[in-house]
Amino acid sequence: MKPISDIFPFLEEPKNIVITFHQKPDADAMGSGLGLYNFLIQFGHKVTVISPTNWASFLKWMPGAKKVINFETQNDKAMKALAEMQWLFCLDFNVLSRVKNMEAPIREINCTRILIDHHQQPEVAAFDYGISDTDKSSTAEMVYDFIVNSGNIKKINTDVSECLYAGVMTDTGSFRFDSTSAGVHRMVAQLKDAGLNHSQVHENLFDNFLENRFRFFGNILLNRMEIFYEYNTALIAIPQQDLIKYNVKTGDTEGIVNFPLSIKGIKLAAVIIDRGDERKSSFRSKGGFDVNTFARKYFNGGGHFNAAGGKNTETLEEVVKKFKEAIKENKEQLNS
Ligand code: 5GP
Ligand code: MN
Repeated sequence: MKPISDIFPFLEEPKNIVITFHQKPDADAMGSGLGLYNFLIQFGHKVTVISPTNWASFLKWMPGAKKVINFETQNDKAMKALAEMQWLFCLDFNVLSRVKNMEAPIREINCTRILIDHHQQPEVAAFDYGISDTDKSSTAEMVYDFIVNSGNIKKINTDVSECLYAGVMTDTGSFRFDSTSAGVHRMVAQLKDAGLNHSQVHENLFDNFLENRFRFFGNILLNRMEIFYEYNTALIAIPQQDLIKYNVKTGDTEGIVNFPLSIKGIKLAAVIIDRGDERKSSFRSKGGFDVNTFARKYFNGGGHFNAAGGKNTETLEEVVKKFKEAIKENKEQLNS
């Protein structure tokens, strides 16, 4: 993978570009993708944003979101854009399996593949150019760096700033995580200068949920949360029947894993959700417990040191059993 700065001289030549990101995109995936989209269209490129799956309704306000193609439900349109692309930007994921059914076309179609990502152990062999930096708070921050370093700071307009702010704000836990460097705050100052209305972005992201989501939270906190004080660990295991009963939609489960992490003494919080086709897990830790390694070892996943996820094909009961055995094996680290 060659440095991303090698493509700067070619930015001005109009071309067909596709931007994609990980399945079930969060605000950083969608925000970095649409931030880059709103930047690149200013050069006259034909830019298509393709999401491997559907996305949460709280992301639909983002400038350009209405043009995003869902690979699963608009497959013909997506395949046509992929067949015509010259450049492909892959944002906010480290391994190609994170784009689900888009993996095969991405591997096979002849184009220049460019990675911008902050996850650990990226599959660098799959990319021609790119930047991977695990010290970065968010992919949105990296897209901001890409724009600034290519000499195009003046192209950061209100649309770009809203998308990038959504990514950096959510991936830093509203500027609370260690990854929130002075550079992150300088970036936000620059976005404000470019016309960002940050309180509107917070409202768009956090104040548009339906009542059912909070009834669902009430249910899982009361009935599905187990605390293992011996291991400083909390687990919420959610059966599929709960998702059906409370009409839970994509995005409604985001943030659940943070509830148990707020309990005094808890160092590891996990949520395992039976989504029907797979058991999806989310892990968060405080301090020195490495959930990236934990997710890789037991749950076919990965991510960051303090935030990771995984997926399993076994039943929910089996995955829960696996989790309980895994924390026993890691007792020493969870108690240190
Ligand atoms: P979340 O728990 O919010 O879904 O994900 C936390 C972090 O772990 C994110 O950075 C996400 O990209 C990563 N992650 C989540 N699930 C998986 C997975 O199945 N595989 C890998 N490699 N990373 C994941
Ligand atoms: Mn991210």
